[in-house]
Amino acid sequence: MTAQKMKFQTELEQLLHLITHSLYSNKEIFLRELISNASDAINKIRFDALSHEHLLEGDTDWKIHVRLDPANGTLTISDNGIGLSPETAVENLGTIARSGTRVFLESLKQKQAGMPPDLIGQFGVGFYSAFMVADRVTVLSRPAGDPQGGVRWESDGKGEFTVEPYEKAKRGSDVILHLKPSEKEFLEPYRLREIVRKFSDFIEHPVIMDQEKEENGEKKTVEEVINSRKAVWLRNKADNTAEDYSTFYKQISNDYRDPLKSIQYSAEGQQEFKALLFIPAEQPFGMQFGEYKWGLRLYIQRVLIMDHCEELLPTYLRFVKGVVDSSDLPLNISREILQSNPKLEQIKNNVTRTVLKALEELRDEDYDKYVGFVKQFSNILKEGPARDFANRDRIADLLLFESMNTPVGKYTTLAKYVESMPESQKDILFLIGETREQLQNSPYLEAARAAGQDVLLMTEPMDEWFIQGLRRYKDKSFTAVDGAIPPGTVSDDEKARFSRLLESLKSKLPEVADVRLSTRLKDSAACLVAGEHGVSAHMERLLTRHGREVSESKRILEINGSHPVMQALVKLPDGDARLESYARLLYDQAVIAEGSQVKDPVAFAKRINELLLKDAN
Ligand code: ADP
Repeated sequence: MTAQKMKFQTELEQLLHLITHSLYSNKEIFLRELISNASDAINKIRFDALSHEHLLEGDTDWKIHVRLDPANGTLTISDNGIGLSPETAVENLGTIARSGTRVFLESLKQKQAGMPPDLIGQFGVGFYSAFMVADRVTVLSRPAGDPQGGVRWESDGKGEFTVEPYEKAKRGSDVILHLKPSEKEFLEPYRLREIVRKFSDFIEHPVIMDQEKEENGEKKTVEEVINSRKAVWLRNKADNTAEDYSTFYKQISNDYRDPLKSIQYSAEGQQEFKALLFIPAEQPFGMQFGEYKWGLRLYIQRVLIMDHCEELLPTYLRFVKGVVDSSDLPLNISREILQSNPKLEQIKNNVTRTVLKALEELRDEDYDKYVGFVKQFSNILKEGPARDFANRDRIADLLLFESMNTPVGKYTTLAKYVESMPESQKDILFLIGETREQLQNSPYLEAARAAGQDVLLMTEPMDEWFIQGLRRYKDKSFTAVDGAIPPGTVSDDEKARFSRLLESLKSKLPEVADVRLSTRLKDSAACLVAGEHGVSAHMERLLTRHGREVSESKRILEINGSHPVMQALVKLPDGDARLESYARLLYDQAVIAEGSQVKDPVAFAKRINELLLKDAN
């Protein structure tokens, strides 16, 4: 059969174009990507062979072989892993772009200038990085369990590739790079050794390079293992250095920064396993794109079972990376059945407690570093209380909040807040909004300020959800200072004096559910508060911004009876024509004070100008 010519899928073609034309830095990472693919291929057959032993064909001498051929200008990476058939080669190396590819292309477009150096690895478009250094790539492969089913795949990376059946004696893949004339440095043994040590040292399978040796006057080729294969998580803690952790972390996470914290431990008792966990220093890149694969690597007795086992972490710790190696989970059952094994739940609980404890230690021992963590991840951690009842107080204690009384950029905790509450204060007070500056000047804080109470100022999208999830802290409820329930009560005398004005304002403002006297205002004339069942103004803005239809909930306009403006308005006769315009002005200033936008800014300005004109004349 002759070779079949096929076109790359459009997105892959774009990707290849980018790789060959614009990615010049860090070219050496191509080797890490190909070695990592070879290692994945070996892990796959090891896993499949758990239930189909015949696939092994007696060859379990797992190896990744790097071969240099200066005469032909080629570099070959071979493995005895799962292999490819013509069909899987077409699928995996040409026609189906992984979902990460599009996101990768997008982010390249957006980030050209400030792009992290090896973004390419983070999106799993690894194989194609070969075209950074090669002008032609040939893959010879044959799948496990099918000696006749081999394939020869080849491409110059310019839009097309060819596939044809190929007879290959041994299972697995040879990826042959025909190096560009400018990239011949990758044929130097010392250079390859250096790259493998730098990027692939922890790959668990041996990476091998042939070495010519003379023994007793005879030339011999010996296999040299060039990676140290340290399974960091299995070694004694005392034998691992910070650098070991960091290198391993980078390998499994594709992050190029050091981790913020590494946690290695062995669990004994109910579940026996070894774990090595990492807290990243910054949000993993893909996380903001919604293309983020999370979960821990699960090994059972050193066999890799899954790269991203979500069952081992609660969602609110999805930024944690690492490895769990269990010694008592069953090895030879399918991933699907394994994922519903109750033992995984026990491991997850253990991992959760350990991570929370590590974060508590960081908070108590290295506060500045901890603040860095909180800035990156508190919005995710805040999902916790609603989802993890047992740990909700611990999660709450890990969070930091700005408050009315903290200087900008400094934090308090719920524990400290409760401790400094005056005797008279029952609830924990909070106000949610977009920025600290906006909240700091909000009229809703006036009553608390006057009473010597503090108010938590919250500006993260998850805050509303966090408070609903936590409900209570140290037996105290939470009260939004812009909520429906006013602090204190209004005297009957006041009510009687203002009832006419309230009625009249209400009749002029169909957009509010009610107009009432406020007990929360000291300096401002009016403010808007949530209706009894409505969503808060902050939530409404948030939903609108995310393109969600919000059935506008009617709010309550509160006016400050002791404000000079109200003292004047209350004296106006019932039918006074000016009341219409004053009602609008009161409403609009309350809208501005809560951080929303007035519906008709032109009309608002016109009314202000009318007042200015009267005052100036
Ligand atoms: P990723 O490795 O992140 O999936 P790649 O672009 O590096 O993305 O590889 C695409 C796919 O090609 C892999 O998922 C795998 O199915 C297949 N593949 C690549 N290299 C090998 C190999 N050495 N042996 C078997 N399959 C491979």
